[in-house]
Amino acid sequence: MARRPMMAANWKMNKTVTEAQNYTAALLPRAADAEGVDVAVFVPFTCLHEVGRMAEDSPVIAGAQNFYYEDSGAYTGEVSVPMLKDVLARAVLVGHSERREIFGETDTLVARKTKRAVEADLLPVVCVGETKEERDSGGMWEKVSGQVSRVLEELDEVGGDGIVFAYEPIWAIGTGDTATPDDAQDAIGRIRELLREERGEDFADGVRILYGGSVKPANVAEIMGQNDVDGALVGGASLEVDSFVELIEAAR
Ligand code: PEP
Repeated sequence: MARRPMMAANWKMNKTVTEAQNYTAALLPRAADAEGVDVAVFVPFTCLHEVGRMAEDSPVIAGAQNFYYEDSGAYTGEVSVPMLKDVLARAVLVGHSERREIFGETDTLVARKTKRAVEADLLPVVCVGETKEERDSGGMWEKVSGQVSRVLEELDEVGGDGIVFAYEPIWAIGTGDTATPDDAQDAIGRIRELLREERGEDFADGVRILYGGSVKPANVAEIMGQNDVDGALVGGASLEVDSFVELIEAAR
């Protein structure tokens, strides 16, 4: 099955509203030409309404970087799915390694958040990946398969187009140290195999699995050339619109 590629920007904790407006105004006309590629931009909460509003009638998907799975209540500092939808978010990152490592998000929390996003028809991009120590000691697959399985355990009905995974080895994020294309294919191919075992052929063939970790214009083509890699989640190289557009073009 031919899956539609996705190129996703993760701005992390960067950009004021004015900077976000300028970026989005420059991106929209160029992304509109990117036939055959889904373009998503995961922005800070403070910019989301503005980016969502500007992108509303365009193919660009405005997304949030985080949320909590309850809809409202005494959860100081948190933002819920209905709140994200209210400001025109169409997708959300779940379990980015910076959320897991710095803010202590557990596999169970990530699984509950994914379930809530799926129920609300907010496309979750679920991030999984191992540390350098785990890779070096041969524990990559135990870590990654555990993260993916915990998410699947929590999900009842979801089609292959209702969820995206991103394999992001932690040692490659923001370090300039990209996984080799073979390493990316190996991990992502195994994730797809696990999806097939757990949920069957149609689901596994329909789910998009992105690679993330120091993707840039110089290495994107090789990574995108791998069979099971359906796109990329990009931090540093997505902050400048020209470089993000180069990545989108490479995904066509
Ligand atoms: C990310 O933020 O998910 C990421 C992969 O960052 P970078 O591209 O900077 O490594």
